[in-house]
Amino acid sequence: MPVEEVHIGPRSPACFEPLLGPVNFAEFERVAARLRKRLDGRVVWNVNSTAAGGGVAEMLASLLSYVRGTGVDTRWVVISGEADFFRLTKRLHNALHGEVGDGSPLGNNERKVYERICDENAESLCERVREGDFVLLHDPQTAGLIPKVVERGARVVWRCHIGNDQPCEESEKAWLFLAPYLAQAHAFVFSRFAYVPDFCDHVRSVIQPPSLDPFSPKNQEMDEESVRAILVQTGLVAGPAGKGAPTFTLEDGTPSRVDRKAVVLRDGPPPSWDTPLVVQVSRWDRLKDPVGVLAGFEELRGELADLVLAGPDVSGVTDDPEGAEVYQEVIDRWKAMPDPVRRRVHLVSLPMDDIQENAAMVNALQRHAAVIVQKSLREGFGLTVTEAMWKARPVLASAVGGIQDQVEHGVSGMLLRDPTDASRFAAMLKQLLEDRVLADRLARNAKLRAGQLYLALNSLVRYAGLLEHLDRRAEAVAAK
Ligand code: UDP
Repeated sequence: MPVEEVHIGPRSPACFEPLLGPVNFAEFERVAARLRKRLDGRVVWNVNSTAAGGGVAEMLASLLSYVRGTGVDTRWVVISGEADFFRLTKRLHNALHGEVGDGSPLGNNERKVYERICDENAESLCERVREGDFVLLHDPQTAGLIPKVVERGARVVWRCHIGNDQPCEESEKAWLFLAPYLAQAHAFVFSRFAYVPDFCDHVRSVIQPPSLDPFSPKNQEMDEESVRAILVQTGLVAGPAGKGAPTFTLEDGTPSRVDRKAVVLRDGPPPSWDTPLVVQVSRWDRLKDPVGVLAGFEELRGELADLVLAGPDVSGVTDDPEGAEVYQEVIDRWKAMPDPVRRRVHLVSLPMDDIQENAAMVNALQRHAAVIVQKSLREGFGLTVTEAMWKARPVLASAVGGIQDQVEHGVSGMLLRDPTDASRFAAMLKQLLEDRVLADRLARNAKLRAGQLYLALNSLVRYAGLLEHLDRRAEAVAAK
């Protein structure tokens, strides 16, 4: 099982200066220079299980390009596996969220599959890693690589992007499964304090929320005419496209265009440009509760807005075996909706062939939304919420996981206390759609908050601090 390297083009972080201000930006440059000097040619590796789809891939793609832009040699590799392995790691993913998932066992047979695939990937990775390099392994799919990479003499950090607000039987099972590998890591990074498992040595744990890149195709500014042109081109709103062109800027700064169409399941006409849209963008995952969104939306009886449920084309996400199944469940629930409601619902599969084009589509959709919802039953952090906040959209999201850190209820968005309460969800949605003064106030505050807390460069400064700390510690141990 060979690991595969994902190309990362360097990008200058200078574009952040106006956002951070000269003092903070100068501090970033100092930190970067210090790290570059300390590394002295050593590499910072990142390892995860997919190059596209989901929040982790999204973040790595942008963060690492700025790191390269500072002259630090960072690389990104993706592990490979077979269906059994990804079924098991999805089971672990669900369990860490406190959910039973497919309920399959986490016993010795599963451990054998897990260790075989992880060992093969670790061997492939270790052909590239040198002693003293840093290796950041992301999520349960990669935890099994820790022992071999430590043995190779690298400084190893395990970055966990998921977790459960309250420990429970399922999450304990997953931690028990992962504990033998994790025990050997030099440090851990969790998104929230509540996610640090009891067995984990708190001294080795750092809390670090994810972040977003305001200049990526996903989040870059887009004027209204481009938004409209992209949405018409994609088939998400009815034409005419107006005067704009469906253009955006690629990660490397060159211009590009949205050419592909989304596959849209709908019974009614596409929404007109003036139709308010309620939008949820997510992988097709039960924990994102797309079926619950349909149930809540049904209570609006086809009034006030159209609903767009958008996710990746299920054939394009390799590490999520449940996607197709969940997508089918959504279709079944949609078919069972009363006529006038069903006609206002659009089930959108976004093409994944070109990940930057996909991001531009998501960007346009989020910017055009009257309300962005994220009715997750569980959520590690919820980057879609950060994205909505940064785009100054009113957000209605479940009070679960990292969403609770992001949204202050009634100030920078609305929180649904019980994520299974479809009626309450519908009532709050109605309020946001009807009271545009409230919606605009929440949206403005959301933008400020996302800008203060969740910008990529702040996150890089904290990572640099962690690497430096680990390196000093390793030197101190070696000197004894
Ligand atoms: N996303 C995307 N295209 C899609 C669906 C989702 O780019 O078709 C992105 C979304 O914009 C966000 C990420 O995937 O950046 C999802 O991150 P989040 O933390 O919300 O959830 P995760 O998928 O990591 O559980």
